[in-house]
Amino acid sequence: MILTWDQAPEEVYPQLKIVAPIQKLVSETLVKHVDEPDEHSFPRSNVNLLAQHNYLGLLTPKEYGGLGLDALHATYAIEQIASVAPATGFVLLLHLLTANRIAKAGSEYQRRKYLPKLACDTLGASAWSEKGVGADKAFLNTKAYLQDGYWRLNGQKAFCTGAGQAGVYMVMTDTTDGKGFFLVESENAGLVLGPQMDSMGLQGTHSGSVGFENALVADEERVGEPGKIGPIIAFDMRSGLHSGIVASGIALGTFRRLLDTVRQNLAFEKYESVRVRVSSLAIQLSIMRTHVYALAEQASKPESERPGIEAATMTAKQFLSESALQMTSDAIAIAGTVGYLRETGLERLHRDALGIVIAAPINGQVLGSIGESLRIKDTASHLYKV
Ligand SMILES: Cc1cc2nc3c(=O)[nH]c(=O)nc-3n(C[C@H](O)[C@H](O)[C@H](O)COP(=O)(O)OP(=O)(O)OC[C@H]3O[C@@H](n4cnc5c(N)ncnc54)[C@H](O)[C@@H]3O)c2cc1C
Repeated sequence: MILTWDQAPEEVYPQLKIVAPIQKLVSETLVKHVDEPDEHSFPRSNVNLLAQHNYLGLLTPKEYGGLGLDALHATYAIEQIASVAPATGFVLLLHLLTANRIAKAGSEYQRRKYLPKLACDTLGASAWSEKGVGADKAFLNTKAYLQDGYWRLNGQKAFCTGAGQAGVYMVMTDTTDGKGFFLVESENAGLVLGPQMDSMGLQGTHSGSVGFENALVADEERVGEPGKIGPIIAFDMRSGLHSGIVASGIALGTFRRLLDTVRQNLAFEKYESVRVRVSSLAIQLSIMRTHVYALAEQASKPESERPGIEAATMTAKQFLSESALQMTSDAIAIAGTVGYLRETGLERLHRDALGIVIAAPINGQVLGSIGESLRIKDTASHLYKV
């Protein structure tokens, strides 16, 4: 299915069920973070609104208190929200990824314990990255070892979206048997919050450091088997959830702002070249949105009907984030000095777009993985290994 630049997705996907409430949320109630003077504040009121509408449980099965919707609905919600509040869209994405992993890879004990609260009012976060460790996470400084039925966690995580705001952290550590995943609650006495990152964009995501000082975690909180977490990471790649959706939202918000700006300063009326450049961005946006929704539609099908979706997700993330970055930069140049001013919000969207390029999987890693799979003539199995 093809979407044009500003087309309402429900015209193409009539099965979308949450259109009216999402549109009301986006236009009337959500704090449009792009216009907020304080970039550093966490969009708590937006998250509370999402919770009130049960959107934190968008993908959670109904039996665990969620809405039980699919990737198409999640994509719609994230894209539309990110078009006015990219940080909120990104926080929702990371939350849904965390809940989805528990739903797919967690034990029944973990599903019953965590999914209802993650569907209701508790944010989930993923604490995988560390400063100076690199995207491949080959050697982590955060270690976990088992003693008397409890895992003892020590180390420092960085860049964790929702640090200090989340109620549950899915933590990646090294163990003597390889990499492991553990669910750690914010009340854990050994969890020590560090400073928020002073990043150039997406500051509202409150990405920051989360430390563990002899944090005791019961064995029931281990997700999967240490040394065998690859399939859990693969769930992300098969879920249809990826930060390229936020990039699509950023591009949509950018395009709308640009159009408003050039209409107001009459450049659109006066200059053929401005109309041509805006039109070429419209085409680019149409391709981006078509890609995002086609992937979401595929990810909403049963597992057996998603051939090649890991590779498609990786390439979508790369293509969409690079396209959004280029679009935000072009939009500023087309708008002229007014676009260069912070007040139009375009420069902030540009900084946010760069954050998506760097967010996992970082684009160089995507290209590296595709290159490796082409080298060994294997199109899928080398993608995004940890
Ligand atoms: C806004 C934002 C939010 C984030 N939120 C979270 C979060 O919630 N939880 C979390 O754990 N982390 C989070 N991160 C961190 C993010 O996951 C990492 O930044 C990402 O995985 C990249 O890792 P790195 O910065 O260590 O890359 P590095 O490995 O340091 O990359 C260095 C360079 O090497 C290239 N490179 C890396 N791997 C390869 C490869 N295989 N082939 C070729 N080139 C390669 C990269 O493209 C880059 O140019 C967030 C980051 C951002 C920007």
